[in-house]
Amino acid sequence: SLITNHMPTSELQALDAAHHLHPFTHGHDLAKKGARVITRAKGVTLTDSDGNEFLDAMAGLWCVNLGYGRHELAEAAARQMKELPYYNTFFQTTHVPAIALADRLAELTPYDLNNVFFASSGSEANDTNIRLVRTYWQEKGHPQKNIIITRKNAYHGSSMGSASLGGMAYMHAQGGMPIPDIHHIDQPHWWAEGGDMDPNEFGLQRARALEEAILELGEDRVGAFIGEPIQGAGGVIIPPETYWPEIQRICDKYNILLIADEVICGFGRTGKWFGSETMGIRPHIMTVAKGISSGYAPVGGSIVCDEVAEVLNNCEFSHGYTYSGHPVTCAVALENLRILDEEGIVEQAGSETAPYLKEKWESLADHPLVGEAKVIGLMGSIALTPDKASRAKFASVAGTVGLMCREHCFANSLIMRHVGDRMVISPPLIITKDEVDQLIVRASRALDLTH
Ligand code: PLP
Repeated sequence: SLITNHMPTSELQALDAAHHLHPFTHGHDLAKKGARVITRAKGVTLTDSDGNEFLDAMAGLWCVNLGYGRHELAEAAARQMKELPYYNTFFQTTHVPAIALADRLAELTPYDLNNVFFASSGSEANDTNIRLVRTYWQEKGHPQKNIIITRKNAYHGSSMGSASLGGMAYMHAQGGMPIPDIHHIDQPHWWAEGGDMDPNEFGLQRARALEEAILELGEDRVGAFIGEPIQGAGGVIIPPETYWPEIQRICDKYNILLIADEVICGFGRTGKWFGSETMGIRPHIMTVAKGISSGYAPVGGSIVCDEVAEVLNNCEFSHGYTYSGHPVTCAVALENLRILDEEGIVEQAGSETAPYLKEKWESLADHPLVGEAKVIGLMGSIALTPDKASRAKFASVAGTVGLMCREHCFANSLIMRHVGDRMVISPPLIITKDEVDQLIVRASRALDLTH
């Protein structure tokens, strides 16, 4: 039978629970309560199957940078599907959308990040990075330099390789992870872990954990360090100012490739095109996905500097996905980048919306439940605490209060996400000042109800 938007929500939910296995969802919750069925979206607003509207302060999963409902992207996809719906980029073939997107990315990215290896997602791109780093060092005559250092509480994807790079212990616990030669160091999360230390001193200390790890593991064994310029899924953790310059110094000193995972931070999220620019990082490799197509089509990639590309081009890199450089997804990404650029959306988000959001969002720190409220560009977080002065955690199971707050957000027509007892936002870059005001009013109400 035909399943459509017009069916009653309860029927859709029952069918969903019967046949659909969801990512990061407990099956019992689905069976008990059913999933929220989203049917349409426009701008920053989502509509569900009962006609309820929500301000989507998460841009989907940190990806709909352009906002919903831009038909130009649908038209770009349709045009490309009619002309050339698929061809691969293996075995010495190519096509115009892949050429054009690689060329555009080389222009947009800073420094000499001029070379793109395509994937369909951030996870695939980070898997590519693991193989790419190891191939690079093999080709350079240092096959033993295969350890990649990463951080606890990082998120780099959910395939076996990318989840191993990630530092989510609960994901590793589900078996076989981390894969060998991935080493995790502590994160620069001052609010939760810095105690009485000055934030900048703490930032230095956490960066120097990289140097300690290199010396312990052996300088000749470490090939790369990977980090999100600002940890997103870990709770929007903005590192102290001292952190990234020290990481950069250490990578330079020990001849280690620096990978910036820009899957969330890229394409305007931090107020500039890339988080590396906001944080002053000069990576050898960037991981991109999400905002590259504003989520309208699955695209990701690893963008590498000229020196790394030169070494890789000396061999056959035995790696690739059927959909590496898929023509339709490339066409959609190109159209997205055109609009972000030509309509000045990244500039406007960085220079006008971000300062406005910062003022409003940081005022939430006055709420009795909020320990810190931070924002950079258009990504922000608040920490919920029973005691601001001591930055205490709730005695209940971690995340219970955050979950409660998220539910109060839903009830107040707002989608925020909780990461444990941190609430996070990452709205579409096209959010207006009026919509920011609505976001703050609804978030405040949800906080009052949670308190
Ligand atoms: N890297 C970062 C920083 C992410 O936030 C994510 C997803 O949230 C990924 C990688 C994985 O991307 P994907 O879900 O497209 O595989």
